[in-house]
Amino acid sequence: MALKTRFTIDYYQEGILQNNRVVLAQAITLIESTLPADQTLAGELLDRVLNQTGKSIRIGITGVPGAGKSTFIESLGNQVAEADKKLAILTIDPSSQLTRGSILGDKTRMETLSKNSNVFIRPTASGNTLGGVGSRTREAILLCEAAGYSIIIIETVGVGQSEVAIKKMVDFFLLLMLAGAGDELQGIKKGIMEMADAVVITKADGDNIKQATQAQADYSHALHLFAAGESGWQPKVLTSSALTGKGIMEIWQMIEGYVHQTKTSGFFDQNRVRQNISWFHEHFDQLLRTEIMEHNQMQKKIQALTTEIQHGNISSYTAAQQLLNEYHQVNRGSNS
Ligand code: GDP
Repeated sequence: MALKTRFTIDYYQEGILQNNRVVLAQAITLIESTLPADQTLAGELLDRVLNQTGKSIRIGITGVPGAGKSTFIESLGNQVAEADKKLAILTIDPSSQLTRGSILGDKTRMETLSKNSNVFIRPTASGNTLGGVGSRTREAILLCEAAGYSIIIIETVGVGQSEVAIKKMVDFFLLLMLAGAGDELQGIKKGIMEMADAVVITKADGDNIKQATQAQADYSHALHLFAAGESGWQPKVLTSSALTGKGIMEIWQMIEGYVHQTKTSGFFDQNRVRQNISWFHEHFDQLLRTEIMEHNQMQKKIQALTTEIQHGNISSYTAAQQLLNEYHQVNRGSNS
């Protein structure tokens, strides 16, 4: 996707540093652009604001559709967002690339938050590959931080593909679950539970309280079977009701407790550095892959090899090697 309007680098930089939300949104559109000229400008912009980044708490929130994500975020956001604690919410909808529709975007979500001047909400495109779920979300996080947002929530629909990508870009990963719906029904795989720093049983109000408390006991038991991760943090299970507000502040305090604990132990910063390095590798892989796949001459070769694989004439293993060899030859040709 290319941009309709490209502004100057100073325009983006100044707007972001002044927390101009219109410019912040425009800058996120710039980093999502696939046009090389836009990408160069985006890179320059990121470097310019780099020393203003990194100071937020990055929180990933996931759960199946209907788990109560948007209602939960709205309730949490209304309680924690204030002038010196601004909140940015980046929503990623992995369904949109498949259906061209959107699970997250169809309804009016987070209505009161969207009117709060201390809150910035932005849906991000899920990218063109599953591995690239929210492929520019990381850069969007940096821009939001530079604009002064000290709490960043990355919300994604828990349908199994995006959680790993999100986990790698946040400090704290929260899984929202419904009581009594069954793990299979909720599409929650054991691996996702293992990644969670906390599980929250939502909608713990009215007739649902008993069931929610039971689910809390069950999931606590299940989580205690996992060894404490490298962070030294023992994952917690809590209940909440966005309707009554019960449990919401406890969740926030737990997240602050996690940040305090892991900053003291040094894990928080180590994890960020590790994430940055893996981010560098992933982005380089993406650039390289895009360059090869979009090269005119390579496309013909890719098609030919795909046909060979379909007919069973060549292994996928050899095909990949041949593709790389072809790329070397094409490059040599163009360099000589
Ligand atoms: P999402 O798809 O995960 O974002 O879920 P929503 O936030 O849209 O919530 C799905 C449905 O559950 C909506 O009809 C909400 O009104 C309802 N809901 C959300 N949170 C609560 C809650 O705390 N208590 C009750 N009783 N209903 C809730």
